Order: sequence, then structure tokens, then C-alpha cells
Amino acid sequence: MEIRRHLESLPLYTPIEPFEVLSARIGRSPDQIVKLDANENPYGPLTIVREALANMEFPHIYPDPESRALRKSLSKFTGISEEYILAGQGADELIDLLMRVFLDPNDCILSCPPTFGMYSFDAELNAARCIEVPRNADFSLDIEGIRNAVETYHPKLFFITSPNNPDGSVISPEIMNELLSLPTLIVLDEAYIEFAGDDLGAKLSRIREVPLRENLIVLRTFSKWAGLAGLRIGYGAFPLWLMPTLWKSKQPYNVNVAASVATQVSLEYTDELEKVVELLKLERTRLFKALQETPYLKPYPTQSNFILCQVIGRDAAELKMQLAQEHGVFIRYFNKPGLRDHIRISVGRPQDTDALIKALKSLENIPLVE
Ligand SMILES: *Cc1c(COP(=O)(O)O)cnc(C)c1O
Repeated sequence: MEIRRHLESLPLYTPIEPFEVLSARIGRSPDQIVKLDANENPYGPLTIVREALANMEFPHIYPDPESRALRKSLSKFTGISEEYILAGQGADELIDLLMRVFLDPNDCILSCPPTFGMYSFDAELNAARCIEVPRNADFSLDIEGIRNAVETYHPKLFFITSPNNPDGSVISPEIMNELLSLPTLIVLDEAYIEFAGDDLGAKLSRIREVPLRENLIVLRTFSKWAGLAGLRIGYGAFPLWLMPTLWKSKQPYNVNVAASVATQVSLEYTDELEKVVELLKLERTRLFKALQETPYLKPYPTQSNFILCQVIGRDAAELKMQLAQEHGVFIRYFNKPGLRDHIRISVGRPQDTDALIKALKSLENIPLVE
């Protein structure tokens, strides 16, 4: 009995643990936990969405394999025709689907870390290689390095994230244009675009350009801005030449009925959702100030719903542990090159910020390590 060779050496992906597991481990009930580790929207779905979920008519019937009604709503929301749109079980499914469609063993993808971990993980899962051109110290892109890597390795896919996770920086239109002129297929991950600029990111997004180009894919999700992370719903815009292959290759019932209902109702009330996003953006400003005033933290500017901080004079892993065990505040720490002394904090509600600030203050007295 033998599994595929390359899977034996596949590193473990460490996902965020669910509420119940976290609360059981530290002996607090879920409502005493401040969860700022996975960039979820703490306000959750709109009330009207919750009602629609409670009153679902056809949970016993398989969903539409083509998500027709949903794609119609997405078309209206994004301003591009539904023939370019495919929905998935989170943007994660679409990342994996793209890799399965494009990658033969030993093919390459290109990515610019520090960034979202799923690109390299899915590449390895598909027996492909992930070529990495690290970002500069300020998280800007190394354009020369990217150019060289494209020329040398001919990556099948180039994954690029704007706003980037974990720092929240946005790629400027000029740089984005340069990337789009490279001879490779660009997968632009806009998981957090709704928090950037105004109008739910409408002006900054490049999704409307997908029909005008052959080499641009844009991925989006309802997990972060729309409060639907638990229902798993994402979507992408793809060039027409790719659509028949994607339709053939995806699981037939990938988008479940609950996710579809919740998303369609959410899209009828984008004004309400935008108010929630604006609340989170206000809270982001307040959180940023508080972090700036914390002597052992240096926050980076962000256009997303999280703030990356450099931890100065103390151990970032230990800080994460102290916040969790002593205060019930969960944040993200990455044990990765370029991020070893960094933590990422999601923007929550005012009471979440309050709890975090209180916890950070109480740790101020602990002497710094030399
Ligand atoms: C959270 C996240 C995703 C995944 O979104 P889902 O729709 O929940 O699968 C994709 N890309 C980035 C950069 C993310 O941070």
C-alpha cells in the first residue's frame, strides 16, 4: 500500500482552530473569547440573512451545479457578465481547482511571500513547485526579481494578493499593470478588497478588467467582509477560454444551498453590509492607534481588516500564548521566514479592541528580553 510519494513530505497546514476547541482548551466559554486570529467578520451575517437561512426551502435538494441565480447576483454586484464567473466552496476551493487544472508534476507556480499560505500548500499538494520571490522589507514587490523568475521558471500561475495577507498592503495600479504585462497567467487574490479604499473596494478592484484580458483571474470571498466564513463561499472571474475546463473539472455540487441562499440575500443588502465594513474600518483606525502606543509593538499600515505588528524586545510566540491563556484573546503568529517576530491582529468590534488593549497593557510590566 503506497500513497503518492510527494504527499509523504507534504508539510502540515495549520488551520485556525474552531471556537469550541479554543474555548475548551483554555476553560472559557465561547462568549468570553476574543477571536482576532482569522480575519473573520465578528458581526456575522445580517439578521435578514440569518432569517433566510432559518427558512430555507430546499435544503433536501441538491444545489444547482451552475449556481445560476447566485452568479446572476454576483454579475450585478461586480459589473461583469455571469459567463466569466464561477462560485466555489470558498476562494480556497478555486485556488485548488486552478492548480489541478494547470499543474503537471514538477510544474511551477510563482508567489511573493510573506503571503497567504494556501498557494504554496496547494502547489505541493498537486506535486508542483512553488517559486518564491520574497517581498521587500516594507512588503512591496521585488519587480526585478519577479521578472527574472517568470523568465527563468515559466510559472504556469502567478499568485498575487492585494490587499496582501498578512500585512494589508495594496499593489498600486502602476505595479499591477507591470505584472499584467508579464507572459504568465496572473491570479489576483482580492479576498480583502472590500476593506480597501471606499465603496467596498469597487475602484481599486481589477475584476472588471477580466473580460478585457486573456491573462487575468480575480478571486474574491464572502468570508471576510460579508461574515459568511463558516458557510464557505467564494467566487472568481476568469477569462472565457478557461471557463469550459473549469466547469468540467469542478465538483458538481460544490456550492451548497445554505451558502447560496446566504450569499444571494447578502447581495440584496450590500448597503447594510457596507455599513458593517465602515464600522470595521473605523475600528481599524482606533486599533492602529492603540497598537502604536504599545511600547513593544510596531504596527504596519493596512488597507485590510487586520493589522500586522512587529514585536520588539519580546518573543512573539510567547506573546500570542500569554494573550490566549491569560486573557482569552486569540491572535495570529507565523513561524515563517520574514515573520518570526510578527503577529497579526484582526479588527474586531469595539469591545474586542478594549479587551485586547487591556491585555496588552497588563503585559507591559513584564521585562523585555535583551
Ligand atoms: C482568507 C483568505 C482566502 C480564503 O477565503 P475562503 O473564501 O474563506 O476560502 C483566500 N485568500 C486570502 C488571501 C485569504 O486571506
